[in-house]
Order: sequence, then structure tokens, then C-alpha cells
Amino acid sequence: MFTKKKKQIYLDYAAATPVDPVVLHAMQPYFSASFYNPSALYTPATEVKQDISDARTTVADYLGSQQDTIVFTSGGTESDNMAIFGVTRKHKNIATLQHRNTKGHIITTSVEHSAVLEPIRMLEKEGFDVTYIPVDSDGLVNAKDVADALREDTVLVSVMYVNNEIGTIQPLADIGRIILKWRKEHNTAFPYFHTDACQATNYLDMNVERLHVDLLTANGSKIYGPKDVGILYVRRGVPLEPLVLGGGQEFGYRSGTENVPGIIGFATSVELIIKEKEHNLVKHLRDYFWTKLKKEIPGVSLNGPTVDSGIRLPNNLNVYIEGIDAEALVLYLDAKGIYCSVGSACSNIVKERSHVLEAIGKKKEFAGSCVRFTLGRDTTKKDIDFTVEQILALLDKVKK
Ligand SMILES: *Cc1c(COP(=O)(O)O)cnc(C)c1O
Repeated sequence: MFTKKKKQIYLDYAAATPVDPVVLHAMQPYFSASFYNPSALYTPATEVKQDISDARTTVADYLGSQQDTIVFTSGGTESDNMAIFGVTRKHKNIATLQHRNTKGHIITTSVEHSAVLEPIRMLEKEGFDVTYIPVDSDGLVNAKDVADALREDTVLVSVMYVNNEIGTIQPLADIGRIILKWRKEHNTAFPYFHTDACQATNYLDMNVERLHVDLLTANGSKIYGPKDVGILYVRRGVPLEPLVLGGGQEFGYRSGTENVPGIIGFATSVELIIKEKEHNLVKHLRDYFWTKLKKEIPGVSLNGPTVDSGIRLPNNLNVYIEGIDAEALVLYLDAKGIYCSVGSACSNIVKERSHVLEAIGKKKEFAGSCVRFTLGRDTTKKDIDFTVEQILALLDKVKK
């Protein structure tokens, strides 16, 4: 899909996917011939406005929702922030519940992406009570733990669909049903249920009715679309305070002239999702990869659910290799043209140990010997064979 200069093997699709050429082609006119501000009144501008509207419909159809529930944003991080601050700020304004000494209660998990954890930590500092639901050794949340954590002042529950480090798929529909039941029994609109579905969009059921979610985050850069564009699904009737005020674009939820090429690119990448086919393709290769690693690399073990558990994303392989320095391995592999990651791309920057591996009960030092490989549309069996061969050849060099 992308031009390979020297031999390059990309195994970091959970960090970013290459933009599909069809997506790029669909975006191009909006940089040049169709550059108009969609809010303007002349004909070519209204045509751009219509194209945005069509893009919104495409995305809404994919989620099984309505056109007016899709808000285009600048990506996963903004959508997560928008959902979390948007609901909790509105809740303060409504002041439906005067409870305890808190500003309200939030439920989330110990394995969320930092785009969810950091806004929630900020709210915690501002006086919200937060329950961090623990996970089991597979990284799985028990829906019953969410049920037990619900309180009358719970405003928001935020549980990611798929973990970006170890690929665990959370039981969203079960949690959603528990929340629905709670709201009915307590005759309240709260709490609202948000999910960060960035890693899931390409592979899993995204129907918001079947998942029983009120707010859902997705982004372009994980689905062969452009970076810096995403959506927040906002169920009709969910009160949400905007983060960005101004001209009132995006139904008033997100002001500012629309990122038209990004929006068109996002919708086109959604149109190109070939869920089942790609699921089977990458799962087959991922399973082959794992079998080969187990056979050829001494002291290797899998982090997260087993490959046939049905609760692991089909393209994710996160492994511990006894006694190695993972960062050294990633850098030596880079020199061979093989690109993979230690833990997650986002925690690389701060170089903190993985909060996800810690949450599944691993010791501090453990994370330093873990590597994440994530596969995609362009991965081949030959890529896998070469990668395993190179890891084997590098083992002595990267011993700690
Ligand atoms: C990539 C990712 C994000 C961040 O999305 P951006 O578009 O880079 O802001 C958030 N959550 C998850 C689970 C992700 O994988």
C-alpha cells in the first residue's frame, strides 16, 4: 500500500495505519478545486457542505445510528476529552444529584488509553470521585465489577472497547445492559456510557444499539484513513457541553471550519472497511507468528488473552521474551527495516512502564522485556518468517 524503499516490514498498525490510496484520492479535491468554506452560501460551497453531510451519513450507517449523532473531531484524543469533559461539565450544570461531598462519580478501568485516563485524572483533582475497575490477568474487565461500582451520583462510565497494548476486547454490550437496567431502576438518565473504540473500528461490531453505548470514540489513523480526524458518536438526548466554542459547526459541539479533506478521508476509510475478510487474514498470520515464535524463541510468553480466546483483537501480538532488553530489540529490528513497538506508541514518549502490564499483574521489570507486534492489510507470511528469523539472530545481542 505504501511505497517500500528498502526492505521494510511494518508491524505497528495499532500505532498508525498507512492511508489507503483510495482514501487519499478521495481527499485530494478538497485541498484544491473544492476548497470552499462549507458554511458559505454560493453553490460550490454548498456542494462541499453536502459532501460533509454524505460523509456523516456513511459513518452513521456504519454505527447503526443517525446522521445528527456524528460529530467530527481532530481524532481519538479530542473525542475522548470531549466525551469526558462534555458529560461531566453538563452534569454540574444540571445538578440533578446533590450527593456526598463529591462533584460526581466516574467509573473507568485501569487499562484505558492516556486520552481517557488523563482527563479523568484532572477531574479527580477537581473533586470528582473515580473508581478504576481492575482487570484480570488477561486484561479483561468483569461487567459485574462495573455493576457493583455504580452509585446514585455516577455521571459517566468509560470503558475502552479494545486495549491498544494487549488487544483485550471488553464485554461492552454486557456493561451497557447493566447501565441501562440501572438507569431504568433508578429512574435517571445517568450515568452515560462512553467507549474509546479506536482499536476496534476496523475489526469488530460497531453497532451502537447492540453495544448499548451513549458516546463512542473512533479515529482515522487506525483505519487506513488520515491522522488528526476522528468522530465522537453522541446518542440523541445525551447532554454534552462543547469543548470548543465559536461559529457553531458540528451541531454546536465543535466549532471551527471543518477539516473537509479529513472528514471525507475518514468516511472513505469507513466505506473501505472489510471487517470479516481482514479479521480472518490478520488472525491467520498473527496465529502463525505466535506459533513460530513459541517454537523458535526460548523463554517467550504471550501477554493478554490467548490467540483463540475470542477476546483478543486478531492483529495483536504482545510478547515477553525472557532476559531481553525490549527497547534494544526494537532498535536492532529497526536497523533491519522491521518496525514494531515496546508496549504502546503513546507511552514510548514518556518512557514510563506500561500501566496495562502492571494492571494484569506483571512486575515492574517485566515490561522492559515486552514487544508489541500489530499486523495489517499489507502483512505477509514472508514478513513474519523474516521477522522471527531476525529476532532469533538478535537474541544474544539484546540480552540484558
Ligand atoms: C490511537 C488511540 C487514541 C488516540 O487517538 P489520536 O487520533 O491519536 O488522538 C486513543 N485511544 C486509543 C485506544 C488509541 O488507539
